[in-house]
Amino acid sequence: MSKRKAVFLDRDGVVNVFPGPGRFVRSWAEFRFMPEVRAGLSRLRAAGFALVLITNQSGVGRGLMSLEDLHEIHRRMQDELGTERLDAIYYCPHHPDDGCACRKPSPAMIRQAVAEHGLDLAASFLVGDSGRDIEMGRAVGLRTTLCRMNLPPSIESMEARYRPERFSKTLAEAVDWILDEA
Ligand SMILES: [Mg+2]
Ligand SMILES: [Zn+2]
Repeated sequence: MSKRKAVFLDRDGVVNVFPGPGRFVRSWAEFRFMPEVRAGLSRLRAAGFALVLITNQSGVGRGLMSLEDLHEIHRRMQDELGTERLDAIYYCPHHPDDGCACRKPSPAMIRQAVAEHGLDLAASFLVGDSGRDIEMGRAVGLRTTLCRMNLPPSIESMEARYRPERFSKTLAEAVDWILDEA
């Protein structure tokens, strides 16, 4: 069976609105989709990409929300996405101080997705909004774009040091680039 190409997507700041530094989306009521997410995912899917969400959710490890809360958010998100629902969701629920193996920028969640879904890393892309996302993507040879729609200028210049291959204003612009390059 031939391997499938994928787009790995960060969640907060890419699929939904970034709640702000040190803040967490703790419930579905706090979840706001970014504009035109379904349209962007639809175009990627039509081009043959698997859509894989890779997200750090340390709000769980910090005791701000339960694992059930996180699952409920993802269940509702997938329901809303409908036919454009993500093929897989990987999350790290741990506190940054836990020293777990999965938290980004570790590429462990990417490697797990590759193993479980037969993905072709060399033909795959990453869309993120943080240096951690870009660092993880680069570690496994993904082509990367930093989506800066939600980033204040001060943070943007900080994240830019991680040298994404491309800057995108929006997910739509990231998708344009990926489809041009694929
Ligand atoms: Mg993010
Ligand atoms: Zn973890």
